[in-house]
Amino acid sequence: MSSKENMMKNKRKFDEFYSDIEDKIISFNKLNKDNYLVYENQMFCPDCRKAKLSYVFNTKTPHLKSKSGGKNPPHQESCPYGYKPASNNSVRNHIDALNNTQIEHKLASMMRYLLTDKSIRQTFLSDDTGQNNPMLIEAVAGATRTYNTMRRKSLGAYFTEEDKGEIYVFYGKGNLKLNDKGNYAFLKIVIGGKTISVHRPKNLIPNDIEENAEYYIVCIGYLKDSLFKIELLKSNCLKYQRV
Ligand SMILES: [Zn+2]
Repeated sequence: MSSKENMMKNKRKFDEFYSDIEDKIISFNKLNKDNYLVYENQMFCPDCRKAKLSYVFNTKTPHLKSKSGGKNPPHQESCPYGYKPASNNSVRNHIDALNNTQIEHKLASMMRYLLTDKSIRQTFLSDDTGQNNPMLIEAVAGATRTYNTMRRKSLGAYFTEEDKGEIYVFYGKGNLKLNDKGNYAFLKIVIGGKTISVHRPKNLIPNDIEENAEYYIVCIGYLKDSLFKIELLKSNCLKYQRV
């Protein structure tokens, strides 16, 4: 990998930020060229609320990134954004080592962390080891225990070609529709004006989808052939819950 590709890989983007003035977590999608200056000095890491973020405005790929260097405070110790992203291989190994119940618990915990109870992020950060944080996975290197963070991506954010193949924890709030083909089905996630398909094998075709209801959705997978189709890491790496 060239150093340029390496830099691209390490470029951390944020799908949301914490505003200290409004005291809430705000989606990146709420920002645009007309209002981003209003938020300029009140955008912080959505997890630790310590590191400052800045909005990089360009027409093709506007994004939020950490302000680094100078007097800018770093991420709080044990903040997932302070760790290196886990490689696809280490995420695979981690998930492979979990049984069904453990995966269920992991997804439930991620759903709380990312969607239903964002205040627990602060609780996890007060635990100085970070080992219980659902977004971190252990990387064993000899006798030392370190952590890497799982990449996350809001389902409402737009996906780009460079996202393809990367394993993400996708999360968001939206509607669900079922496209039942008999032997398999596609679960359609409708969110922010786009539709994303997730393949379900016959034994996992859901029978509890209410098309007009809103759901919290979390899944672990990657974009394979298309930017509108998520391939799950394992067929049970998906959880949804009525809002
Ligand atoms: Zn942070």
